[in-house]
Amino acid sequence: MTDHDIGLIGLAVMGQNLALNIANHGFSIGVYNRSPDVTTAFIDSLAEAPSDRVADGTPERLVGYTSLADFVSRLQRPRRIMLMVKAGPAVDAVIDQLQPLLEPGDIIIDGGNSYFVDSNRRAATLKEAGLIFVGAGVSGGEEGALKGPSIMPGGDVAGWPHIKPIFQSIAAKVGPDSDIPCCEWVGEEGAGHYVKMVHNGIEYGDMQLICEAYFLLRELLGLDNAQLYEVFRDWNAGELDSYLIEITRDIFTVVDPDTGDYLVDKVLDTAKQKGTGKWMSQHALDLGVPTTLITEAVYARCLSGQKDARERASQQLSGPEGTFEGDPAQFIEDLRGALYASKLVSYAQGYVQLDAAAREFGWTLDNGAIAMLWRGGCIIRSVFLEDIKRAFDKAPGLENLLLDEFFRDAIDRTQAGWRRVVATAFQCGIPVPGLSAALTYYDGYRQARLPANLLQAQRDYFGAHTYERTDRPRGETFHTDWLGLR
Ligand code: NAP
Repeated sequence: MTDHDIGLIGLAVMGQNLALNIANHGFSIGVYNRSPDVTTAFIDSLAEAPSDRVADGTPERLVGYTSLADFVSRLQRPRRIMLMVKAGPAVDAVIDQLQPLLEPGDIIIDGGNSYFVDSNRRAATLKEAGLIFVGAGVSGGEEGALKGPSIMPGGDVAGWPHIKPIFQSIAAKVGPDSDIPCCEWVGEEGAGHYVKMVHNGIEYGDMQLICEAYFLLRELLGLDNAQLYEVFRDWNAGELDSYLIEITRDIFTVVDPDTGDYLVDKVLDTAKQKGTGKWMSQHALDLGVPTTLITEAVYARCLSGQKDARERASQQLSGPEGTFEGDPAQFIEDLRGALYASKLVSYAQGYVQLDAAAREFGWTLDNGAIAMLWRGGCIIRSVFLEDIKRAFDKAPGLENLLLDEFFRDAIDRTQAGWRRVVATAFQCGIPVPGLSAALTYYDGYRQARLPANLLQAQRDYFGAHTYERTDRPRGETFHTDWLGLR
């Protein structure tokens, strides 16, 4: 048996499916898992697996090992070892076990949802040890891992030529000839995991916006699931065309086999989270950039989690009882535009944060290329990403996507309806944190003058924090004894 092209450690759902994807594309792969029975069960399952999971020849190309030393010794040099283990201390534990078995120039690829700060650290410490670290964000869930994920690799670029043929072969493909891989080198250190984190944050925002639209349609217009299906079907045929709108449409058709009712109505209204949206919001605060929509989406999940408290409050707190009195068809069209405009703001904020992070860490990121990584294979895939790519190709240093002509026109076209939707929601007491945060950001960003003059005056009044003047050069600071001048 010849040595394997690549090795993979961690055979939970993502690791198994990625290993199959790699072997299905003709590469030879060795696999290892901490618990050996998992490895054995996986390898044994290949013989019985259906052909849409296991291609011809895959069982011969996919070999399991129960000893880490044997696994490492059977890999081609430089060794390419992909980790698909639980993010956090498990990654360090596996790296520590691997290090004594490796040689200078070997490549460790962390394909989990690792925190970018950990990836920055691992890139530095492994470089000192003569090893190459790649932090690769992988998106698309278990189905994507098997059929073609979006892969966002970053770290030590010396590793890229060695992994590129495998990664680009297994990644999702887009373009007119379906030959453009959703996998390109992203940048230095933890840039790959940072871009994956921003992807997940945008996913939080997109999902929240869709949920607000659903709530308005259901609570205000009283649409049932069959009507909701039709609205989302129509939306998916236009500029909102995306994976998340598509699966939302389909969710409205699924019937609970136990009760015969629509399943979506049986799902408890508490959203869980694994933390990548929260990381993005936390880092937005560290960077001082207003990633408001995504942060509101994180908070909305937190509020949804307080189910018992909300049930108690619902018995005690009052709000408008008003019903919707406008034209339902017009409202649905306004809502479609509001969703589109808010989504645009969400991406604009995400890219502003990416630019700020790139400045902070000295990374060189290609924003247009990043849009193309998300074009297929991942949860936020949508037609709209082509427009983002075009905007950054036209103006690579674009300060904010909202300033691109295409997006400016889109907002001009939709903003009257967007304002009607938010105003109606407020009047009727329906929470729309995402739609309204996006509109508030838009209105704040387009103001040359904000009320922060008063805020800075307050700070100087109580804390002598000083202020700059509109009639003096920037950077010159002043302090006033406000009390004395009264
Ligand atoms: P997971 O539940 O996150 O992790 C389980 C795997 O990690 C098992 O192979 C487990 O081995 C191994 N592991 C845990 N602690 C370990 C330790 N201390 N030492 C060695 N191995 C250890 O698996 P997953 O859902 O397949 O995800 C893998 C990675 O991909 C994660 O970082 C996840 O966040 C990321 N990801 C997941 C998805 C998804 O849809 N699930 C999508 C994108 C990215 P044992 O069998 O021995 O316990």
